[in-house]
Amino acid sequence: MSLPTQSPKKVFIKTWGCQMNVYDSQRMQDVVKPLGYAPAEDMADADLVIFNTCHIREKATDKLFSELGRVRPHQKTKAENGGRMIVAVAGCVAQAEGAEIQRRAPYVDMVFGPQTYHQLPEMIARVSRNTGAVLNTEFPPEPKFDHLPQDRANPGVTAFLSIQEGCDKFCTFCVVPYTRGAEYSRSVAAIIAEAENLVQNGAREIMLLGQNVNAFHGEGIDGQSWRLGRLIYRLAKISRLKRIRYMTSHPRDMDDELIAAHRDIPQLMPFLHLPVQSGSDSILQAMNRKHTADDYRSTIDKLRNAQPNMALSSDFIVGFPGETDEDFKATLDLVREITFAQSFSFKYSCRPGTPAAAMQNQIDEKLKDTRLLELQSILRTQQEKFNHSMIGRTLPVLFENPSGREGMLFGRSPYMQAVRVAGSPRLVGEELPATITDAGGNSLTGSLQLADAA
Ligand code: SF4
Repeated sequence: MSLPTQSPKKVFIKTWGCQMNVYDSQRMQDVVKPLGYAPAEDMADADLVIFNTCHIREKATDKLFSELGRVRPHQKTKAENGGRMIVAVAGCVAQAEGAEIQRRAPYVDMVFGPQTYHQLPEMIARVSRNTGAVLNTEFPPEPKFDHLPQDRANPGVTAFLSIQEGCDKFCTFCVVPYTRGAEYSRSVAAIIAEAENLVQNGAREIMLLGQNVNAFHGEGIDGQSWRLGRLIYRLAKISRLKRIRYMTSHPRDMDDELIAAHRDIPQLMPFLHLPVQSGSDSILQAMNRKHTADDYRSTIDKLRNAQPNMALSSDFIVGFPGETDEDFKATLDLVREITFAQSFSFKYSCRPGTPAAAMQNQIDEKLKDTRLLELQSILRTQQEKFNHSMIGRTLPVLFENPSGREGMLFGRSPYMQAVRVAGSPRLVGEELPATITDAGGNSLTGSLQLADAA
């Protein structure tokens, strides 16, 4: 007698926010895979739907409730057909507003914070046994990383690897210290094991992730505390690992060893996202950034001395409470002086529960709009200029996947620029020289040597 076959279950994960959340979603996929969940293309087909949320941007909660409104009819249809769709909310909005989510959307089965997704099998089992909805927003004593599957199949050419989580800096505009908890660094041995597994499974570039990645201070293989620079020297010994990057960094944690790694390690890409947020010391102080504009300039000087090709990217917040015309001008001055290859700039918006949200001297929205436009125009010009400076140069490009158009490949330059060239799909995973023939605001076009392209 043959056993009845069960159709495989499916999981659909929608992710908002930063690379940390993308990494978390990939790891949630790894955690539920042994339970028989394969990825679903469409939310309607899924047996488990997870919304992995981000609290950084404005209207995060509104976006979540609009998605929950969309999933509810699918959940009902599934139930009418005798099935079950488990709906879960994960990530930082879950952490910050778990009880509110359960109150407004009682059909949500599980609400869990970023520190607990290794407990997904247990949470799914509890929901499946109909023992009620799960709210799990603790910061458990045992780190989740110790409980995640070791093998990361099909990581892609560029893989994320989370090495640090949480933050102790308490910038006054930011929710991360409240939603992700205190700074925690993984052990060097665990990171090396995961990196080796990623490379074995096809990764050629690893992006080391952390909310405050250069505050890394994990236990080293010699029992001492290792900083990020030392970790990178060690990771560079993994053969077939061609590129290492890290984000997001804090200016205060750019120590000498990390700067030296940019000088010494060819695999460490000459591109750094180092948020400064503002060029005004009084605003930096109100933000509790714990550094001045000159501290930032001096760190950039050291980086450029160590690695003359270094290209930079930053985050900027305009219209932070109390920002005067003079403060804003200080930001523009800093931007013109340093020049950025890429940047992310936003209007300040209140995050409930953060100190800046309670500040009395909030800035008028129209003034924020005007300032943002002015800043973005300068940043866009700098980015275009940087991209145009690549025309005629030959750059090593790591090819990540076939591009949308047939016969084209998509890859990245050392400076994180998107590069498209004509070439065979068998070149995915290869790093090859491409001569840049054209440049736009967001991407480059290039060509391979004939012998390489075939
Ligand atoms: S350092 Fe980054 S993550 Fe930490 S509080 Fe500041 S902005 Fe948030």
